[in-house]
Order: sequence, then C-alpha cells, then structure tokens
Amino acid sequence: MNKYPTSLENLIECFSKLPSVGKKTAERYALYAFFHMDEVDLIDFSNALLSIKKDIHICPSCGNMTEDSLCNICSDASRNHKQVLVVETIKDLITIERVNEFRGIYHVLNGAISFSKGIGINDLNIESLTEKIKNKEIEELILATNATIEGETTARYLYELYRTYDVKITRIAHGLPVGSDLSYADEMTILKAFEGRREY
Ligand SMILES: [Zn+2]
Repeated sequence: MNKYPTSLENLIECFSKLPSVGKKTAERYALYAFFHMDEVDLIDFSNALLSIKKDIHICPSCGNMTEDSLCNICSDASRNHKQVLVVETIKDLITIERVNEFRGIYHVLNGAISFSKGIGINDLNIESLTEKIKNKEIEELILATNATIEGETTARYLYELYRTYDVKITRIAHGLPVGSDLSYADEMTILKAFEGRREY
C-alpha cells in the first residue's frame, strides 16, 4: 500500500488527535497545509500551538487561564472581590463575561462531582476558595454550576462544606432548562438566572 511521506503521515496523525476530526478530515487538513499554506503561515500556526502551553497557566487565585501571575479579572481592582461566582469551567466564565453584567470575581472548579466518573469534591479546584472563605474575604458565594445532576450535586456539596462559615451562599435561578449547560445559554437567560438567584 502506497503511503504518504513520513512527515505528512505524522501530521495526519497529529490532526486526528483533535476532537471530531476523523482520519479523512485529518488527511484533508494535512494536504491543505502542504499545498496551500506558506512557510510563514505554518510557523505562525506552530508557534500559536506551542505558546498555549508555554505562556498560559492557571490563575492560582481563581482557576481562570492567564498569561500573567493573576488573571485579568482577579487583578481588576474595580471589581467586587467579595462576591464570588462559582462555575464549573473556564468556558462558563467566558460565557458569563460576554454578557458583561457581573462585576464580582469568579472561581473555576475545573469540573463537577460525578459519581459515575469517580470525580469527588477533592478532585475539584477548591483549595484557594476554601482559604478565602476561611479568611472571611468573601461575602457572597454564588453557585453557578450547571443544571445537571453533576452540577446540582456539586452545588449541594459546596453548600454543605461552607455553610458553617460566615458567608452568604446563593444559587443562580436555573431558568436554564434542566440538564442544560451554562455555556449554551443566551444573554437574557443568564441575566434572569442572576436576578432570580436565591439563598441556598
Ligand atoms: Zn483569577
């Protein structure tokens, strides 16, 4: 069987590691790169790939992505650092930031409790959050985990974990359909979810 040269086979292999990219699509991408992209394009492309690992790290305070020591939200003094919105993923944070309404700060759990996947509370990013709550740095903790079994379970666990501390714990109103992912919600739904939040 005639194969492509090794470098092209390697590139096909690389592309096929991406989600939703099968062998045929990977082959198409690799051939496109060879025939239609010049060297400058390819250098930009490979530098952009390398840079996400080299330059980006997780904000030690909130779990957001950043290229600085703290993320742009944590280092923004004009935001209310006593109001913390807890989300499952960075994608959720970005979705809420796009609405441009919330002026507090975030905490990204980097997941949700899932018994079927064997993910417990200690597998989530909560250390710095617990620290802030113990140090009384937070007045309101808004739980904005998804309206899924995992999201509800996580909210419940966090409530149980922090209820004895001096912090108001609220849960966003899920006008969001049950089982839905926050990152698919439109602006209006997110605004309503904030306005309708209730004490846990
Ligand atoms: Zn941060």
